[in-house]
Amino acid sequence: MKSILKTMTITALLAAQAAGASAQADGFQYTDERFADLQMLRYKVEGFDALSLRQKTFIYYLQEAALLGRDILFDQNGKYNLRIRKTLETIYTDFQGDRRSADFAALEVYLKRVWFSSGIHHHYGSEKFVPGFSEAFFRTQVKTLPAFKQLVADFGYRNADAFLEEICPVIFNPEVMPKRVNLAAGADLVLTSAGNYYDGVTQAEAEAFYKAQKKADDPRPVMYGMNSRLVKKDGRVQEVKWTTSGLYGEALAPIVAYLNRARQFAEDKDQQAVIDRLVEFYQTGDLHTFDAYTILWAENTAPLVDFVNGFTESYGDPLGMKASWESIVNFKDLEATKRTETLSANAQWFEDHSPVDARFKKDEVKGISAKVITAAILGGDLYPSTAIGINLPNSDWVRREHGSKSVTIGNLTDAYNKAAKGTGFSAEFALGKEELDLMEAYADLTDDLHTDLHECLGHGSGRLLPGVDSDSLKAYGSTIEEARADLFGLYYLADPKLQELGLVPDAQAYKAQYYSYMMNGLMTQLVRIQPGNDIEEAHMRNRALIARWAFENGKADNVVELVKRDGKTYVRINDYEKLRGLFGRLLAEVQRVKSEGDYAGARKLVEDYGVKVDPVLHQEILDRYAHLNLAPYKGFINPVYTAERDREGNIVGVTLSYTEGYAEQMLRYSRDYATLPYVNR
Ligand code: ZN
Repeated sequence: MKSILKTMTITALLAAQAAGASAQADGFQYTDERFADLQMLRYKVEGFDALSLRQKTFIYYLQEAALLGRDILFDQNGKYNLRIRKTLETIYTDFQGDRRSADFAALEVYLKRVWFSSGIHHHYGSEKFVPGFSEAFFRTQVKTLPAFKQLVADFGYRNADAFLEEICPVIFNPEVMPKRVNLAAGADLVLTSAGNYYDGVTQAEAEAFYKAQKKADDPRPVMYGMNSRLVKKDGRVQEVKWTTSGLYGEALAPIVAYLNRARQFAEDKDQQAVIDRLVEFYQTGDLHTFDAYTILWAENTAPLVDFVNGFTESYGDPLGMKASWESIVNFKDLEATKRTETLSANAQWFEDHSPVDARFKKDEVKGISAKVITAAILGGDLYPSTAIGINLPNSDWVRREHGSKSVTIGNLTDAYNKAAKGTGFSAEFALGKEELDLMEAYADLTDDLHTDLHECLGHGSGRLLPGVDSDSLKAYGSTIEEARADLFGLYYLADPKLQELGLVPDAQAYKAQYYSYMMNGLMTQLVRIQPGNDIEEAHMRNRALIARWAFENGKADNVVELVKRDGKTYVRINDYEKLRGLFGRLLAEVQRVKSEGDYAGARKLVEDYGVKVDPVLHQEILDRYAHLNLAPYKGFINPVYTAERDREGNIVGVTLSYTEGYAEQMLRYSRDYATLPYVNR
């Protein structure tokens, strides 16, 4: 499961972009170009140089394996995507006319969006892109550029006209393949989704096919259907598996070759066994082997370097079964992981000193040691748009019996934070210099710490009273649970214990998080809500609940105010210590609600404080945000790894550079990592 917003105050995500100028800190260029609704960023692979040659070599081979799967995702996202990508790239590189013309400029933007989304549908909303260039322009290019003579034959068409007849409606007709993933109730979700996971099969046929496979009362079910396309062939519904000798074999075979090269440089025997099982799975497609692989992977926690490579998340399938291909190679950030280990080691102290009723506390509490990692490469469904936290594997029974790995990707969070500097976002919404200085000095650190407290201690603290059903809060359960973890973090951020543990530099630091949390919960998170809508997402509800509850309940003491200046609303915190007291009170109440399974209490808290939006304030925030002209979506350009070899071909050094441009990178990937045929059946 990916967490994109789960663990991070969204200020940096909302702000991350540089208008005009590019954010540069510590001599590193964190932002790159912007187009459509997208801002490209770069991440720094801090600590790579300090790794051993063995580890660098391991990473080098793994990142090759990560890039080799790129075509798989393009094909999974839509059956015409590889042909469209190649066509657009050919026009982009071979075009003879005026490159400043409106049609060419629009084609360039469209191609950049196709690269970003690995297909012709938006990566987030999944709606089909509307091209800004004319169909006539597109047709002329295909008919006149010499390269297309051979290409249309490679695509499998007898001539350019036959190709255009099939491809033009896919690109230009808004009624053809309008959504990649259609979740609208009432429709046949399979037939109306443009993703390439099913062919000629209805939703009912797909559901019946898998229902017949599932065994009743199987305590350890495999992830049915995750590694295949479901097709109707010879009148029969059947799976075509993605294996080295099956569909996508042209990509999976070289991936396996690189995994095997990497294997010799793995950090321990267990990690070699992980690779062996993954290779076996790619070769056989056997789902029991997949489970065995994920168990070995989840339990292999000693190595510094780790990776995900494979069919992983199922957000692209309207039925939630078929898994898109993705990869990330990473290594542990030892310095940042020390932070989470310090917190986990002191978990009992935090439990004992929390402001909740003694009846609701755990006698013995174990911190979860989530690790902080540094991403070295992003591939497939994690590139260029990515998650900042990952929790895998996804199989319920594997998680239950063997645990899971929960990671925060530190250098991506850091890049978002650095890129947010100088965008004018904080200057627009923060009250004044005092608040800006506070956030400038401490917000990056306290944001990370708040996340750590939330993940490592917050969720694991407290207990239910005997006999209370863990599902008793029903639809309000996840908001209450997130509020509990957030409040635990907020309360302890201001505790002298954190200074004693060496986690914060002084007694002021927490104020940065308090200010940005209240500003976000009372105002700025509303930029993600459409006018007239309620707050629905659990994390957003929890932030509104906490901020508004503290605001309302601190009114008598004037703890937090909303003040107006030049017609704009700002948050003013008059008493930070009293605000901490309010967070403590609410934590005690939220824990009581959870421990007692008090459904009515949960509903009241959430409905009174977490759902409704003040329409006047909302419109004001939307207008102010619009003026900043920030791109709502971000993605990352990868660094480039280069291996130095001796005469025998052994790697003797690996260097990395950050200068490759976005289009340059995409064109290189399309040249060097184009593994699949244009048509995959
Ligand atoms: Zn959480």
